[in-house]
Amino acid sequence: MNEYPLPSHFLEAMKQQLGESDLNLFLQALQQPAPVSIRLNPSKGMPAPAASEPVGWSPHAFLLQSRPSFTLDPYFHAGAYYVQEASSGFLNHVLNQLELPEAPLALDLCAAPGGKSTLISSFLGEKGLLLANEVIKSRNQVLKENTIKWGLGNTVITQNDPAHFAQLSNSFDFVLVDAPCSGEGLFRKDPQSIQEWSPENVHLCQGRQSRILQEAAALPKPEGYLIYSTCTYNSLENEENIRSLVANFGYKPVEIPIDPAWGISQSACETERGAYPVYRFYPHRVPGEGLFMAVLQRPPSEDYRKPAKMGKDFRHPHLQRLPGKIRNHPSFPTLDLAENYAYYQYSNHLFALPARWVAWFETIATRMNVQYFGVELGDWARDTFLPGPAWALSLLPKPSYAVEELTTEETIRYLKKEPITLSKADRGWVLVNYKGLGMGWVKNLGNRSNNYYPKEWRIRMD
Ligand code: SAM
Repeated sequence: MNEYPLPSHFLEAMKQQLGESDLNLFLQALQQPAPVSIRLNPSKGMPAPAASEPVGWSPHAFLLQSRPSFTLDPYFHAGAYYVQEASSGFLNHVLNQLELPEAPLALDLCAAPGGKSTLISSFLGEKGLLLANEVIKSRNQVLKENTIKWGLGNTVITQNDPAHFAQLSNSFDFVLVDAPCSGEGLFRKDPQSIQEWSPENVHLCQGRQSRILQEAAALPKPEGYLIYSTCTYNSLENEENIRSLVANFGYKPVEIPIDPAWGISQSACETERGAYPVYRFYPHRVPGEGLFMAVLQRPPSEDYRKPAKMGKDFRHPHLQRLPGKIRNHPSFPTLDLAENYAYYQYSNHLFALPARWVAWFETIATRMNVQYFGVELGDWARDTFLPGPAWALSLLPKPSYAVEELTTEETIRYLKKEPITLSKADRGWVLVNYKGLGMGWVKNLGNRSNNYYPKEWRIRMD
C-alpha cells in the first residue's frame, strides 16, 4: 500500500496515457500488494513451487501465493531461482524470437543486480557468452554474487562506463540496455521511488539514457539487436529515446508476437521511419510491475565504427592463460575438468572459462575492467589448492572430492557459517550439497571440521 501521495504531474501524464477509466484501475492496482514471483534456474532443476501459477510469457517464472522467507531457503542460496518481478521475464520471450547464431555473444550494459543477466545466462546456456557490465562498484559486487550463484560459467563481468565500450563496437549479437530510470513502474514495490520522482528527474534520466544509448548503438553487429527497457511509463524516457536511435542510427523495428491473454500493452512509436512497436506492462493488466521494452535491429551494411580486433598474443599484467598440461600438474590432483575449458590465473586465483570463448575473452580482458569471469575454481596457497565457493556453486564437475548431502537444517547451519558435523570419516575437502546442488566446502579435520562458506554471504538471521 502506498504511504506517499502520487505526484500530480505523474497522475496527469498517466491519465493521458491510459484514459480516465483505465487510470482508476491502474491506481487501484497500486493499492494492492505487489505479486511475488521467482524465476527458476533451469540448470539447477528445482521443482516448480507448490501452489504457484506459471507466468505466461516466461516458462521458468512462477507467481507465489505469499512471500516466503527466501533468506531461510537453501535453494535461494544455491542459485536455484532468482526473485524477480514477473514483467522482467518477458526478456526470455523476446530472446526466443530473435534470429541469433548458434553461439551468441551478448552484452548487458546496465546489469546489476543481475536479474536480466541471469536470465540471459540461462538463455545462452553452454554455447553463448554474456558480458555483464555494471559501472557502479558497489553494485558490481552483488552482480558478481548473483552470477556466481547462478553458476553457469558463461559470463564475464566488467565495471566500465558505457563510453569505454567503443573499443568493442560492432561485436555483439544482441545488446540489452536496461537503463537507470525514474522508476514509475516501481511505485508499488518500492514506495521510496515515489519520493524520488519529479519532472526534473525524468528529464535528468532521459539525458542519461540518451547518452548510454548513443554508446550502445554502435555495439551490436550489423543486423544485431538492441533491446531497450526501463521500469518507467513516461514517453520521454521511452519513445523519445527510440526516436533518437532511429533518427541517428537507422535502427529497424522488430515486432514481438504476444498472446493477448498475457495483458501486455503493445503500441506504436511514431518515428521518422514509420511506426515502431513498443511494449508496456501495467500492474492492472499483468501480475507484475511496470516495464517498457522495445527491440530494434541494426541495419545490415552501415558500419559506424571499426569492429573490435580479436586478441592474438594475449599479454596482460596480472592475468595469465595456463597451459593445458595444468590438468596433470602433480600439485593439483583435484582438477579434472572437461577438455573444453581454458584455465587462467589471476594473482593466486584460478579460473576456468569455456575454451571456445578464449579469443573473445582475451579481447575483452585487454580492453575492459574485468571483475569476474567464467568460474573461479579456487586459490593456490603455496603448493596446495583450496577449492573455492564459486566452483561448488557452479555446474562444473568436481570429480575428486568427497560429497556430503546435508538436510535443510544442516544446510541453514552451514549457510550461517556454523560448524557442521560430517558423517564422512575421510579427512580433507568435502563438497556439501543440498538436494544434489553444490553449496560450498567444508574441511574435515577428523575430530572437527572447518566451514569455508564465504563470510560476506552468510545468513545473519536467526
Ligand atoms: N538489469 C538489471 C536487472 O535486471 O537486475 C537492473 C538494471 S538497473 C534498472 C540500471 C543499472 O544501471 C543500475 O545498476 C545502475 O547502477 C546502472 N547505471 C547507473 N548509471 C549508469 C550509467 N551512466 N551508465 C550505465 N549504467 C548506469
